[in-house]
Amino acid sequence: MPPRLAQIIVFASLLHGTAPTEGVSITFLANEGVMLSSGGDKVLIDALFQKYETGYAVPADSTQAVLAAARAPFDDVDLVLVTHRHGDHFHPAPVAAHLRANPRARLVTSKQVIDSLRGRLEPNAAIESRLLARTMAPGSRRREVIDGIGIELLGLPHGGRRHRAVEHLGYVVELGGRRVLHVGDTDITEAAFAPFRLDTARIDVALLPVWMVTSREGQRVIERWIRPRQVVAIHVGEGQERRATRDVAQALPGAITLVRSLETYRW
Ligand SMILES: [Zn+2]
Repeated sequence: MPPRLAQIIVFASLLHGTAPTEGVSITFLANEGVMLSSGGDKVLIDALFQKYETGYAVPADSTQAVLAAARAPFDDVDLVLVTHRHGDHFHPAPVAAHLRANPRARLVTSKQVIDSLRGRLEPNAAIESRLLARTMAPGSRRREVIDGIGIELLGLPHGGRRHRAVEHLGYVVELGGRRVLHVGDTDITEAAFAPFRLDTARIDVALLPVWMVTSREGQRVIERWIRPRQVVAIHVGEGQERRATRDVAQALPGAITLVRSLETYRW
């Protein structure tokens, strides 16, 4: 683009009070944990957790410490999102520590996650006002703008009948002119996704569990009900990195797999 045209576009978007579409950076942490950032905005999803059962990947101890302490590059986070309470996505101790260390961070998640966090927080009105309980019934959706960041909450149930009591939600986060979908450990059936018509929502990046990307049923949902510009596979078990990367590339050409902690991609 000629520099003058670029300047005109930036100027026009300033006139309209909207940020230029500068794109979004996605920093992978481990399992399904990511940080999305654009300009001064930062969003953590399923990023504050600890060593869980055998086979689940976690960030290095040093990365976990920096995340919990809300130190750079994980400082000034605006939103902390958690899809559900399972230990490979959430632990109350680092979430409580992060919220104490960063007075601007707001937690937007299920009531179940917030209830398990409350046991870790001494009564504290300043933090209480930053806990936004948003349990979503399956098939329901809700769009909100929090701190200037648009997010859509999706009532996607957790996969597997034995997890039916687990409150679970997916998110579409709007940052830098991009729309990023994170589905947690979603049920991968068409029935779960059809109500949202994400195929008409212009999803730029879909962060999906690896088993969804490599299964026939999951691929059908991706092609028919999500239609993202880029598929990104996450939730790869420890020691499965090579195999998962190969399987994803074979199953869905063009899809990528995130396995290296602190690797950052830009869209
Ligand atoms: Zn789970």
